[in-house]
Amino acid sequence: MTKTVQISKEEQERNLRFIEEGRRHVARLEEALGRAPYAAVITFGCQMNARDSEKLSGILQSLGYRMTEEEDAADFVIFNTCTVRENADDRLYGRVGRLRGIKAKKPHMRIAVCGCMTQELSAVEKLRESYTHVDLIFGTFNLHRFAELIVTMFESDRQVVDIWREAGEVTEDLPVLRKHFFKSGVNIMYGCDNFCSFCIVPYVRGRERSRASADILAEVRALVEDGVKEVMLLGQNVNSYGNGVSGELSFPELLREVCRIEGVERVRFMSSHPKDLSEELIAVMRDEAKCARHLHLALQSGSDRILREMNRHYTKADFLHLVRRIREEIPDMAITTDIIVGYPGETDADVQDTIDVIEAASFDNAFTFVYSKRTGTRAAALERIPEGMTKEEYRRTVQDRFDRVLRAVQDKARTQSSRFVGQSAEVLVEGVNAKDPSLLTGRMSNNLLVHFPGSAALTGQMVRVRLERSMGFYYLGQTDPVSAGI
Ligand code: SF4
Repeated sequence: MTKTVQISKEEQERNLRFIEEGRRHVARLEEALGRAPYAAVITFGCQMNARDSEKLSGILQSLGYRMTEEEDAADFVIFNTCTVRENADDRLYGRVGRLRGIKAKKPHMRIAVCGCMTQELSAVEKLRESYTHVDLIFGTFNLHRFAELIVTMFESDRQVVDIWREAGEVTEDLPVLRKHFFKSGVNIMYGCDNFCSFCIVPYVRGRERSRASADILAEVRALVEDGVKEVMLLGQNVNSYGNGVSGELSFPELLREVCRIEGVERVRFMSSHPKDLSEELIAVMRDEAKCARHLHLALQSGSDRILREMNRHYTKADFLHLVRRIREEIPDMAITTDIIVGYPGETDADVQDTIDVIEAASFDNAFTFVYSKRTGTRAAALERIPEGMTKEEYRRTVQDRFDRVLRAVQDKARTQSSRFVGQSAEVLVEGVNAKDPSLLTGRMSNNLLVHFPGSAALTGQMVRVRLERSMGFYYLGQTDPVSAGI
């Protein structure tokens, strides 16, 4: 059962006070440097983290920092971390460690680490002991107190560590610096109650809390006023939005309301758990033309036995039934997924079940991962290497299974992604193509990218593009102002 998030006016006022105080510190730094100080927010992980980083950047900017993407050039570097997979942790330590030498030459430099990884005690211990050049460590539950934490950091001569063990009050209306002026994420809920056996998220993001729908709708209206055309409703499992909160909208109702806000042109959402995806939601996606033709539906495994062990609460047959219903109602819907290979105890037969689902579901794309053990989760206690197999033999077996799954995904996805050749699509222009400045890059409703000739002035506009050539996972096209299409 979820609960609603309380918005505290006192928290809000407290923050504004600390933003004022922080401004004075940053102004003094600017005076000492003889130039404006720069900050870089480095984001790892998912869309939720990307949205959190926009909030961190908004606070940094209102304190007087200029933003840069170059961590070496920054006077303050903030790493917003992810801990879903072990290699994300390793990459983080590498990046933070590299700054030690730069900070030695630039003593005024400040470094902070926050996000999911810092909710884990072992990670905080490691940062405290081995990364003493880090000035500030905080978690996911006190991100809204960033201005206060910065003030404490400026006023302290040692490492500041402030990790909350559970969610407190959430402050709204803090400054946000959006990465794109024309699209934005909107948090509709925080945390997760599902406890999938492999997943660390419920431990580092806490239990499910839904925001009040009136606040979400007000935020979307304000974003539209500010030039946003596309919103993405964000939650770990948006389908359980508002569950058990009396008087609150359900997710399908909320989605319909957001789609009907004047000025919104496209609405996406992420992520959606297959066990909770209702017929009502399928009907809203079908009937609301602004609802993007893209659904990310994490499969994880096609084996009933592994799904049970993962605590996913659906079977292979349930999943395929759901995909069939979505495709019956919305034939142009692109469906993408997540797949884990190498879950403890997985056999060749289990992997074959996963490949069967990939073939039957015809995913438009899939993120395929090798299972990563996360300390504290239920699966972490399970033995991975079968009896009689060496570590190296096991590694090779998993790699071979991964390659088979990836091949199945890519074969299907290539065919699926190219099914729109010759059609015309509405494309939200994201900007000039990074590799070829004569082209623009835009995103279709089904989330595929299209590159086409055009003027940079079209950035942030919806334009019609004829899809001339499929390049596997993207298209080349030409603007097409007249024809109708997808
Ligand atoms: S639904 Fe499962 S995989 Fe997704 S965040 Fe929650 S626990 Fe993790």
